[in-house]
Amino acid sequence: MQRKKVRIEGIVQGVGFRPFVYQLACACSVAGWVCNDSRGVLIEAEGSAEALGSFLRRVQNEYPPLASITRFESLDIATAGETGFAIRSSDSGRQKTAQVSPDTYVCPDCLSELFDPADRRYGYPFINCTNCGPRYSIVTGIPYDRPQTTMSAFLMCSECLAEYHNPASRRFHAQPNACPVCGPRLSLRNSVGQTVSELDPLQGAVDLLKQGSIVAVKGLGGYHLAVDASNDEAVAELRRRKARDEKPFALMTSDLTAAKRFVEISEAEQRLLEGVERPIVLLRKKNGHGLSPLVAPRNRYLGVMLPYTPLHYLLLQNHFEALVMTSANLSDEPIAFEDDDARQRLSGIADSFLSHDRDIFTRTDDSIARVMAGGPLLLRRSRGYVPRGVSLHAPQPPVLAVGAELKNTVCLTLEDRAFLSQHIGDLKNLEVYESLARTVDHLQTLFEVTPGIIAHDLHPDYYSTRFAEGREGVRLVAVQHHHAHLASCMAEHRLEGEVLGLIFDGIGYGSDGKIWGGEFLAGGYGGCRRLGHFAYAPMPGGDAATREPFRMALSYLWRAFGAQMPELPVITEIPEKERALYLKMLEKGLNSPLTSSCGRLFDAVAALVGLRSRVSYEGQAALELEMAIEGEVEEEYPVELADEKGMVIFEPSPLIRAVAEDVLGGVPAGVISGRFHNTMVRMMAEVAGRMRSETGLDRVVLSGGVFQNRYLTEKGVRLLQAEGFDVFTHSLVPPNDGGLALGQAVVAGFAT
Ligand code: ZN
Ligand code: ZN
Ligand code: FE
Repeated sequence: MQRKKVRIEGIVQGVGFRPFVYQLACACSVAGWVCNDSRGVLIEAEGSAEALGSFLRRVQNEYPPLASITRFESLDIATAGETGFAIRSSDSGRQKTAQVSPDTYVCPDCLSELFDPADRRYGYPFINCTNCGPRYSIVTGIPYDRPQTTMSAFLMCSECLAEYHNPASRRFHAQPNACPVCGPRLSLRNSVGQTVSELDPLQGAVDLLKQGSIVAVKGLGGYHLAVDASNDEAVAELRRRKARDEKPFALMTSDLTAAKRFVEISEAEQRLLEGVERPIVLLRKKNGHGLSPLVAPRNRYLGVMLPYTPLHYLLLQNHFEALVMTSANLSDEPIAFEDDDARQRLSGIADSFLSHDRDIFTRTDDSIARVMAGGPLLLRRSRGYVPRGVSLHAPQPPVLAVGAELKNTVCLTLEDRAFLSQHIGDLKNLEVYESLARTVDHLQTLFEVTPGIIAHDLHPDYYSTRFAEGREGVRLVAVQHHHAHLASCMAEHRLEGEVLGLIFDGIGYGSDGKIWGGEFLAGGYGGCRRLGHFAYAPMPGGDAATREPFRMALSYLWRAFGAQMPELPVITEIPEKERALYLKMLEKGLNSPLTSSCGRLFDAVAALVGLRSRVSYEGQAALELEMAIEGEVEEEYPVELADEKGMVIFEPSPLIRAVAEDVLGGVPAGVISGRFHNTMVRMMAEVAGRMRSETGLDRVVLSGGVFQNRYLTEKGVRLLQAEGFDVFTHSLVPPNDGGLALGQAVVAGFAT
């Protein structure tokens, strides 16, 4: 006989780990006990060498779907002659590093009960078990126990309680456990709060949707606005009421088969779509998909997700192939998640509300992902992923990083783990800003740490910077925007030392006070040097040039041709007086800050080829430029690299002249776009080559919002690899500003 003490860390609490260990111990004829403690799960197991060996192997290989193991240690100890195996009650010690699990989809076991007429939870929209259901969005504090969730308001009935206490049950210690007798209930109300369908709120909502109504549906992390995706008028009405002209709406399809009718799905995409996190996945539209073209106008892709709550399954199955399920908010406001607030804010948008009485404590938007270079890339990391940690290459002192301004997220580090928050949003909106403070407090409560170091962006006017400056008794570390992007990609891959960075971004505040965004960097967590950048170009009217790409087109044409610019449609479309004004601004440098932004160059080319002169959402022009590429395009335009005071400067004028010539020659936009992208790829390789000969470094990280572009990233990676570079791109952390806080956190952590 032997006895072992086993310590397991990671996401091992609230995910059915102890009953799993219990059942496995019984199956392997192993005696002893298991309990939760402050760091995770502790096991003492006794049995024959053979039984113990198989038990330990199976614990590591067969653990429950929501669990993840970051540390597994086993130690020989003296035998105790115990018989039988027990689950001991939780050690009341502090649950410091025990992690709360993310919210997840409804598991296959619960799903089959949901549709089984003989089951006591048949058709019950809040079915869950230790392997599935709400977690992060309902947790109010730690330890993760029912009283510290929004389920505290519901008293379990005797049947639910029996499951809760039975180690052999799938619902042993399932904190949100509920049934139709004792748990949350649905309601259907109209826009003035009157109950619409007392008997069957679900069927009532289905009927309304079928009639073309807009229904606000309470989900896991907030409300969605739902309409029938095949009903053109309903989708148009939703666009009108939401004041959203073009930004694509996300779809929820009833299942994979339905999804395949609308979009192409590769194996990697299917894995992402069906994963427990259930993100929105960007998938290529099929021709003749039969959905309203207004779901995602001028876009080759559709954002599709599969149902993830029991309510979603009940709503869709046998009723709709696809529903538009877009976040319930007005343009830049945060998504509504509190019932009263939702009723108020959505009163002019939703005709009715399919809601329930289980509160959402933390707002979490849907995550958005796409497959790139064969693997997943998160464009927005939120529901389903948060608060899962990212492992760092080494432990560091606790740091809070507060991100940038758009797509804000924050990051908290604890030893060698970094915890990125859910998507918070655009901080210029007051409600979003308040949500930043609330998120910081909540994360600090969950992880029981209040860092003495706060990392923030170098930009003095970002609201995140002001938030950091408003916290007392902390040390502030300002991190340059593109250094943070570089560090974020390094951190994701646990890289150490120094690397080269091609940081292609919208805009960020540079250490020279200029607006950076197309940066050639070398460095690591400790600091970085700017080895070069895109040539500076004026942005006539400043921020307005971001919303109106034709201004950037004018700016680049002016740089490339001076006053003798060719008569391109993008120019002739601008009323003459206005055009004269912009040209004057450019000549005199009036209200035209300089930028090395890569995103603005993409905008300019999108406008030049006639795709888009004005955008209605961030990144739209660049996205449509990428979408325009048709078939295989091999040609490229000339790349000019200049040397300016020892820095490599990418000079886009030759490229702009070639684009203008192609436009005048009637070359299709898709071909020009392909040639332009190929030029950027060539430039990346040439710049990296120069940086390598200067520094001897041959690892390259690609970061910044522009690398959401699949064509650029995939071709860029291939060419750089062919040139002998080790290339690192983002996967779990967004390349855009949604991943910035991670980089800030490791830079600040390294400095101390
Ligand atoms: Zn389940
Ligand atoms: Zn019950
Ligand atoms: Fe950025």
